[in-house]
Amino acid sequence: MTGTGADIAGGCLCGAVRFRSTAAPLATRYCWCRDCQHFAAGNASVNVIFPSEAVTVEGETAAYESLADSGNRMRRRFCPKCGSPLFSQSEARPHWIIVRAGALDDPNLAEPSGSIWVASAPRWACVDPDLPQVARQPAPPPAQS
Ligand SMILES: [Zn+2]
Ligand SMILES: [Zn+2]
Repeated sequence: MTGTGADIAGGCLCGAVRFRSTAAPLATRYCWCRDCQHFAAGNASVNVIFPSEAVTVEGETAAYESLADSGNRMRRRFCPKCGSPLFSQSEARPHWIIVRAGALDDPNLAEPSGSIWVASAPRWACVDPDLPQVARQPAPPPAQS
């Protein structure tokens, strides 16, 4: 299912970790869960979902596993040198890899289509009023055809 013709690249701040995707993103969303607020310095994280099989990673990552608010065990990977958050994968959905939008060489590729976990957003959060909002865990994005 790889090979949609896309060639998307990115990496961490220091350049020790680089990745490529041969597929276009399946979906992009803001996530306001409390875990993401930790990773995104207080804001929502911007998560770009790719098919796992389309993404190759070069360089060493460190990982942190935790139980997310959704009840899923999440494995989050970051650069051990510069600390940039890079990837996230759910044990329940190994066929998806979530890339943090800030790691893309061209962040314009990541245009969010909605906000999730807005029930956990702080009072001062800027939640885009023009995009659909889900209070907690969303339905999966549309299947890849
Ligand atoms: Zn780095
Ligand atoms: Zn989150």
